[in-house]
Amino acid sequence: VGFVPTMGALHEGHLSLIERACRENNKAIVSLFVNPLQFSPKEDYQRYPRPFAKDSRLCRQAGVNLLFHPTVQDLYPQGFNTQVEVKGWSDILCGTFRPGHFKGVATVVLKLLHLAQPDRAYFGEKDFQQLQIIRKMTEDLNLPVRTIGCPTIRQKDGLALSSRNVYLKPGERIRARRFQQILRWGVQMARGQKRSSETENIMRKELLKIPGLKLDYVRVVDSKTLDRPRTLEGRLRILAAVWLGKTRLIDNVPLICKN
Ligand code: AMP
Repeated sequence: VGFVPTMGALHEGHLSLIERACRENNKAIVSLFVNPLQFSPKEDYQRYPRPFAKDSRLCRQAGVNLLFHPTVQDLYPQGFNTQVEVKGWSDILCGTFRPGHFKGVATVVLKLLHLAQPDRAYFGEKDFQQLQIIRKMTEDLNLPVRTIGCPTIRQKDGLALSSRNVYLKPGERIRARRFQQILRWGVQMARGQKRSSETENIMRKELLKIPGLKLDYVRVVDSKTLDRPRTLEGRLRILAAVWLGKTRLIDNVPLICKN
């Protein structure tokens, strides 16, 4: 059994995971659940898009065997009082700016994994910190599931597909393209550098040149542990989060280094 947890508003990114789950398993399960636990009170839980009929049609067309669409009551009945946290991994990077977010993610994913009992679960590299936190949780808790990371699907101009892209105003959409170009440029630039802080500083300056952009962070991290390396060696990744108007965008790219 292959399983793909989602919050719906499905796009090609989700579909790449879903199609892979259908291909690699006898049965494929998809969940659609906008998880209130991972949104802070100021975030977009209420306005998050919920096009259920379209999502359900896309799943059927892809060959999904079971679509799980629980209500909030189903997953969090009155008195629900347990949460899971991967300590030290949840309060860095995006977690610094979204306190409680990864606790909400880990909790719902653990519940969904228990309910679906899959052999393989598929997650996108687009949400790289989430993917690594889930890997760590499944390892720490000995969950009998293989966590599979899938490459980020992008629009033609490079912008990573996201359900939140619909919030971007036309001018912001054009500037969003530059965000991802700077990440790629950072990869090239890092080749001539020794220290990760140097790469981060130059990228920070370049990102802040985008009109109206608010930077949450740009960080070079170890791909497995999310730790901050001092030197540009090993398997690394550049992760960044920015705001364009009222839309928060995240993206990341691998950094191929010596060694
Ligand atoms: P979400 O509905 O945003 O919770 O995403 C559900 C799953 O789809 C997560 O594992 C995401 O990482 C993955 N995903 C979202 N966008 C993309 C994308 N552009 N490419 C690949 N996977 C994605």
